[in-house]
Amino acid sequence: MTQQSTFEDALFRLKSLASLADLKPEVIEALLHPKQMLEVSLPLRMDDGSKKYFSAYRCRYNNALGPTKGGIRFHPNVNQDEVKALSLWMTIKCAVVGLPFGGAKGGVTVNPKQLSPMELERLSRAYVRGFADFIGPHLDIPAPDVYTNARIMGWMMAEYESIHRTHAPDVITGKPIELGGSLGRDDATGRGAYLCTLELIKKMNWTLTDIRVAVQGFGNGGYHVARLLQQVGCKIVAISDSQGAIYSENGFDIESLWEEKQQSKQIKGVYCNDSICEIIEHSAITNEQLLSLDVDILIPAALEGVITKHNAVNIKAKAIVEIANGPILFEADDIINSKGIHVVPDVLANAGGVTVSYFEWVQNRGGQSWSLEQVQSQLKEKMIAAFNDVWTLSETGGHTLREAAYICALRKISRVIEAQGTRQYFLTR
Ligand code: GLU
Repeated sequence: MTQQSTFEDALFRLKSLASLADLKPEVIEALLHPKQMLEVSLPLRMDDGSKKYFSAYRCRYNNALGPTKGGIRFHPNVNQDEVKALSLWMTIKCAVVGLPFGGAKGGVTVNPKQLSPMELERLSRAYVRGFADFIGPHLDIPAPDVYTNARIMGWMMAEYESIHRTHAPDVITGKPIELGGSLGRDDATGRGAYLCTLELIKKMNWTLTDIRVAVQGFGNGGYHVARLLQQVGCKIVAISDSQGAIYSENGFDIESLWEEKQQSKQIKGVYCNDSICEIIEHSAITNEQLLSLDVDILIPAALEGVITKHNAVNIKAKAIVEIANGPILFEADDIINSKGIHVVPDVLANAGGVTVSYFEWVQNRGGQSWSLEQVQSQLKEKMIAAFNDVWTLSETGGHTLREAAYICALRKISRVIEAQGTRQYFLTR
């Protein structure tokens, strides 16, 4: 059997969950078709004088709720299909947390670790030249994603401003603070997931200090959620990066692990370079073993599609909090649900990032700078409200949290589409 693409998998899930939301057929149909997809070849002058071409994409999936919003990833596996799936998930995510945004996503097929800093700047600026008429403060607002960061957002904003000969900090979010970024954007994705995890723990009546957590992925999202959970007493017993994973029954100190990783660039190196290696008992495991550990909470915080129908049977965690976008394939949903595992879905669990992106956009448009306290308290308010809306619907309707999150989102989008008239309206006039 040929393997289903990520976008096909996302569409199957959408169709299946939409059937629970009692939507008009026209609304479902509208959500099956990405609004705009642009592919551009970016020519890049390399430091050695040669020229290379990189494929770049941006998909504006749906703009019913407002200008489209979503990150740009730089990764060797980026392709059109993946970008479409990610932009569909952004559409649902923005609706779940009640932001006035539609969904989009972009990416470049590149391994940024192989570029020099100057090549990276030229590529970032080339991306904006390629998509200069496709993005804009009222049209489509990019942000960081896998392997992109604040500095890259700053270069992209500068390029957009020089093309359009204007000041436009609101064209992109996740910028450095000095260039109009928001305080609290750097840890927002991890903090949002942390807030959802705390709510889940409360609902389950679990004790924080008894909780053992495994985190797959030690990028921005994985690091901050692990750090915050450790601060309130949870034990982070396993963590991984793209090179491999480490396990310690006593739990890791996330701050020192992060500091070491910044230097050695890999967490396995951190534990085996004679420094911490000697202090903390640990064992090296694989990313696959990490997923099947007997822990309370599993947090996939790397890439999509890591939990499939093949390995879902091995999962022993009581709950999964999805920080990555799409870590569980639709084909695995039934297996996970039948095991009674609570899944806080990506479209809710990782929505903290885009929520603070929205705050950044609001600040840029109003010429304001909010304090860290203001950002964090508004993030908390929004995340807890969204979590509880989803939780209540799941309890009252007998739905999983993912089903409830999709139903909440689809109903919001549906009201807007219906206000413009559907078949029922036009035929009864
Ligand atoms: N890339 C992040 C996400 O997947 C953030 C998007 C944004 O801030 O617009 O949610």
